[in-house]
Order: sequence, then C-alpha cells, then structure tokens
Amino acid sequence: MASLADFTTLRVGGQIDETRVARNEEELIAAVSEADAAGRPLLVIGGGSNLVPDDAPFAGTVVLVEADGQGPTLSDSCDISPNSEGKLPPSCGGVTVEHFAGVRWDDAVRFAVENELLGTECLSGIPGTVGATPVQNVGAYGQDVSTTISRVRTWDRHENRIRTFFASDCGFGYRASVFKRTPYEGQAKSATGRYVVLSVQFQHTQGDMAKAVVYPELAQELGIEVGERAPLQRVREAVLAIRTRKAMVSLEEEHDTWSAGSFFTNPILTAEQSRALPLEAPRFAAGNGANGEELVKTSAAWLIARAGFAPGYGVNERATLSTRHTLALTNRGNANAADIRELARAVRAGVEEKFGIRLDVEPVQIGEPI
Ligand SMILES: Cc1cc2nc3c(=O)[nH]c(=O)nc-3n(C[C@H](O)[C@H](O)[C@H](O)COP(=O)(O)OP(=O)(O)OC[C@H]3O[C@@H](n4cnc5c(N)ncnc54)[C@H](O)[C@@H]3O)c2cc1C
Repeated sequence: MASLADFTTLRVGGQIDETRVARNEEELIAAVSEADAAGRPLLVIGGGSNLVPDDAPFAGTVVLVEADGQGPTLSDSCDISPNSEGKLPPSCGGVTVEHFAGVRWDDAVRFAVENELLGTECLSGIPGTVGATPVQNVGAYGQDVSTTISRVRTWDRHENRIRTFFASDCGFGYRASVFKRTPYEGQAKSATGRYVVLSVQFQHTQGDMAKAVVYPELAQELGIEVGERAPLQRVREAVLAIRTRKAMVSLEEEHDTWSAGSFFTNPILTAEQSRALPLEAPRFAAGNGANGEELVKTSAAWLIARAGFAPGYGVNERATLSTRHTLALTNRGNANAADIRELARAVRAGVEEKFGIRLDVEPVQIGEPI
C-alpha cells in the first residue's frame, strides 16, 4: 500500500487508502469529482514539496497530478510561431504561455528562459508543479508568480464547473492566494481547497536580459550591483547555483534537501513588535496594515539562528534543521512525521521564548496542525 512518505519531499506520512494518477485535465476533473461525489477526503499532490503530513493513515483519495509530455499552449495577438532557429520572434504584446497543472515547475521556467521570456527566471529550481505555484504564490530572490500569472483555470468543487480566475481575482499576497485561503466545505474533510488548479497561464515580456536584480545575494553571485541587469540564462544559472549550495533543490541522494523548503514564513510585524527586536535584525517594508500602520517583515531564518538553533540542530538524529539552511527542517533518512513536528515545535517555542514572535508554518499541513 502506498503512503504519503512515497509522494512528499519530506518523505514522511501515513498510508493512503486510494491513489489515482491524473495526467491531463479530464483525468484530474474525473478523479476529483468522483472522490467528492463519494464524500471521500481528497488530497491533490503535485510534487509533494510543500506538504507536512501526519503519520495517521489518509482515509481518502490522493490524486497525483503528473505531466504526460504535453507542451505549453502559446497565444498572442501577433504571430508567435517559432522561427527557423526554433525561437519565438519578438511580439508586440508579449507572449502568454499556458501549462497543464502537472508540468514540473522548473521545466516551465526552463522553457521561458530558453525562449527569452522574462519574469520567472529567479524562480528557477523550485521543486513541485505548475499547478501548485498560484496556491502559495511561489516566490524567491525578489520574484513571485503573482507578477507573471495572467489567469488560473480551476475546477470549482462546490459548483462542479470550471472557473477561471484572472490575476486580479487571485488574491495574491505573501505566500498566499484565494486558492490557499478558500477551504473545501463539502461533506468530507479535505486537505485540498475548493479550487483545483487545472492550468496556469503566464504573461511574459520578451528579451534576453532579465529585469533588474533586486536581491543582494543574487546580485553578488552575478557580480553586479543591485538594480543592474544580467542575461536571462545567467540569472537562471546563478539562482540554481545558490539554491544548490543551500540544498534548496530536491535531490534524492542529499538529506539536506529532504525538506518542505522554508518551514516557517517570514513574520510580518507591527512597528511596535519591530522596535522590540535587536537593532541588527533584518527589516523590510511590508506595506500597511488594516489601520494604515506601516508593517515590517523580518527574517524567520535570522530569528531561528539568534534563538540558538544552529544548522543541523535536532531533537533527535532522525529530524534536524538542514546543515545548510536553518529554515529547512529535514528528514535524515528514517524520520517519521512526529519527529518533524516535534522539531518544528521546539524551534517555534525557542523563537517565541527569545523574541515573543510566534512563527507560522508555511507548508500545508495534513492532520493535526503543529
Ligand atoms: C528544497 C525545497 C525548496 C523550496 N523552495 C521554495 C522557494 O524558494 N519558494 C517557494 O515559494 N516555495 C519553495 N518550496 C516549497 C514548494 O516547492 C512550493 O510551494 C511548490 O509550489 C509546491 O509544489 P508541489 O507541486 O510540490 O505542491 P504539493 O506539495 O504537492 O502541494 C502543496 C499544496 O498545494 C495543493 N495543490 C497541489 N497541486 C494543486 C493543484 N493542481 N490544484 C490545487 N491545489 C494543489 C496541495 O493539495 C497542497 O495543499 C520549496 C520546497 C522544497 C522541498
């Protein structure tokens, strides 16, 4: 019998009652609506790289969304057939590219970079599928998908119909969207929300130079100043190099990558909370709160390190912080979900005790919240 450990990058989690594979839109809609009609709990999994399971059996249907070699659909008001060199010619309105939800995200980024389509190059190397990217508005190195997504086609599980969201309706925020925020309220509990993403369309401008680099670490890797530009392909290579050094790519042989990426979100603080932090704490403007007061984002990794958790810290030898990135909780080979949860609680309690800030878990949790 398959278990969640087989399909998640943390490689933990209990046995699964029923597993279905969906390789195209029709199969995805059929698998989801059959589970819903039968009142069975449902979990849609792409790459399993943003999931924290629990050890209890999953008494429902897991739908694995995979690509079947299908290429993207290109569209534009101008002619965008590839030219004799196999490249897309310059086009006045930019280019829209639509991928099936099960396509590997990094394949979509590579396609964009190879075709000189701008806007996702800093998101190179993020594990998982295209369909999950709007769910938490995936982001890294100063970019997130909210700035390139033009529309998201979904299966609305409440109304049993296809529903399309244009970018302005997606409610994108920091690691948040309407897809993450809207729960399924059918008869069975569901770890997947009301909207199942079928495909995502991206609107790219064209060019061989990436947009201005805003992230200091990336600028340094490229040997340029923040605000300068670099060739698109070089930006992708620099991002992949940084991510590989930090074990923030997914590799079977490398336990530091057996994680769910950043386990906690960077806390957004009020001005008063921010003032209570040591002077040297990282602070970034984070817009305004409901009452108009300025908000400040700090770094969860910094808080964890300053609360005394060194890289490699563990509550036991099975589950530890990554030896290369304190924000990633990792399975050293034989951890179970309880080990990961115990480590998460220890880190969160340590940060709360030292700074009075409670860290929020970033990945989607299955079962009891940590
Ligand atoms: C090493 C590593 C590095 C990472 N780095 C980053 C990073 O830099 N930035 C970042 O933002 N994230 C990062 N992540 C987190 C993760 O890769 C992203 O959130 C990714 O988009 C998850 O994709 P997935 O297909 O694996 O989603 P899954 O883990 O399979 O699913 C996550 C959630 O989305 C839902 N979901 C999946 N597919 C669909 C669908 N088609 N329709 C509706 N719901 C769906 C699931 O039900 C679940 O609730 C990292 C993870 C790892 C392991």
